[in-house]
Amino acid sequence: MDRFLVESPHDPGDCRKVVKNIYAQGYLYNCDWGCKGGVHKAWVIIEAENQKQALWVVPPILRTNATATKIVKFEPEMVEEWKDE
Ligand SMILES: [Zn+2]
Repeated sequence: MDRFLVESPHDPGDCRKVVKNIYAQGYLYNCDWGCKGGVHKAWVIIEAENQKQALWVVPPILRTNATATKIVKFEPEMVEEWKDE
């Protein structure tokens, strides 16, 4: 399984509607929100087989216009192996 960062935008007027829906789905603590910083997006990190599955796993209200990006953490050993180009 890979990790994906799902980013889902919503309209500024829809914050409460979206957050309430996420709360009702039991997903509240999985999400980080940019609303208080003026960026109306939710972010969730999901484990999934691929991008499509990552988008499928999030609650339906987050799927509209959402993007899923595969994310990794680089290990120090990997970075140290890289030769300067
Ligand atoms: Zn918002």
